[in-house]
Amino acid sequence: MAAATVRLGVVGWPVAHSRSPIMFRHWFDRYGIDAIYEAVPVPPQEIDRFFAGLPESGLRGVNVTLPHKGAAARCVEADAVAARLGSVNTIWLDDDGRACGTSSDGAGFVKSLDASAPDWRVGGRAVVLGAGGAAASVADALVSEGQHVLIANRTAAKAQRLAAVVGAQPLAWEDLDGALSGASLLVNATSLGMMGSAPLPVDPAALGPHATVADLVYTPLETPLLAAARACGLATVDGLGMLFFQAQTGFERWFGRTPEVDEALRRAVAATL
Ligand code: NAP
Repeated sequence: MAAATVRLGVVGWPVAHSRSPIMFRHWFDRYGIDAIYEAVPVPPQEIDRFFAGLPESGLRGVNVTLPHKGAAARCVEADAVAARLGSVNTIWLDDDGRACGTSSDGAGFVKSLDASAPDWRVGGRAVVLGAGGAAASVADALVSEGQHVLIANRTAAKAQRLAAVVGAQPLAWEDLDGALSGASLLVNATSLGMMGSAPLPVDPAALGPHATVADLVYTPLETPLLAAARACGLATVDGLGMLFFQAQTGFERWFGRTPEVDEALRRAVAATL
């Protein structure tokens, strides 16, 4: 008897904008895997029931996007990083059929740095802009990599809270310019620079000549921050790499192999931006 088609998806509300179905379908085609991956819209009032029913749902696992990452961390068996951040983006069923979760955004971000700017660790001093969910994952992963991490955010209290959770140092937004000269990595984890929003009011020329600049925003792919950094001759890392590498974790959990992040995948997703 032929094996049943594997069912997977990304759960969010709304979720139609998610690029995850494009990434996973690209990998299924490439590796000849009989699987479907769909966007699964679930409203907040139904999300606990959705996670509770996962083991019997017929789904092998799911990715989780906004606004459900916190609910997922409450409802499934969260690993250490997911429990620390209170956020789960990848869920799989273990051998006993229990739903387990991790947060792969931070590790995915580090892999994207390794792929695009391999010398990013040198200098050891990172400035992260923002204190939302994405900034939390990134700051946590950078601290785990041994970096000294400074977090600046428009709402200072959130930067202070996040810094305490991940073992970083809060930085007042007004002191940003002064801090940049000593930084070897600058990460924009705010939503500034996104199409339709204001650009980030930060000049990468204040960084040293060997610094790396990363932007989590990927619409547009080259944000004003990255364009300015490139003009200064700095190494730059766009937001698509994090999206690709965080997705590898789900594929590894569900199929036991690491799918390749390559130009063909980048082309397939970039064509939809
Ligand atoms: P979030 O939790 O809503 O956080 C938004 C952050 O942006 C907060 O720190 C907020 O500061 C800041 N911000 C918003 N408007 C601002 C303004 N006018 N001036 C200064 N700061 C402002 O969002 P998130 O989920 O962390 O996502 C942040 C960005 O990362 C988004 O652009 C998202 O698309 C991107 N992202 C990319 C990936 C990827 O795979 N590449 C993954 C996740 C997220 P306050 O705290 O002061 O409001």
